[in-house]
Amino acid sequence: MAIDDTDLRIRDQLSEHGVRDTAQRRAVVDEAVRRRGRFTANDIVAELAPHGVGRATVFRTVDLLAELGILARLHSDSHHAYTVCGTEHHHHLICEGCDTVEEIVSDSAEKLVTRIAEDAGFQPREHLLEIVGLCRACQAAAQGGR
Ligand SMILES: [Zn+2]
Ligand SMILES: [Zn+2]
Ligand SMILES: [Zn+2]
Repeated sequence: MAIDDTDLRIRDQLSEHGVRDTAQRRAVVDEAVRRRGRFTANDIVAELAPHGVGRATVFRTVDLLAELGILARLHSDSHHAYTVCGTEHHHHLICEGCDTVEEIVSDSAEKLVTRIAEDAGFQPREHLLEIVGLCRACQAAAQGGR
């Protein structure tokens, strides 16, 4: 999905939820989308503070975006990192080398999760799956660096 599409899609989602489109909020969304990987609220504060967007606004906006499912909190990351998410159910491949986050949509993962729950007689409501490691580019860079 192109960056502009993501921006527009998020703007639509915000207006659907009756969230007013302010310049400051838009700056936070733009910055999150531009990063295309994992980032923390503090990363965005560092980027936007010189442009007059305050820390409190950034934290409030990040919370709001996470509440609406536009951002997902990455549970495997100890720094309270977030990433911008598509609307379809998916999971994340998180690269420790370059901080990219790739979305994976996997039927077999969904079936496996359902079967694990069923076998335990458990009624699942939701599940989380994050795979942390190195992306192709970072693997190649690690090999070339030897
Ligand atoms: Zn996601
Ligand atoms: Zn990488
Ligand atoms: Zn799933």
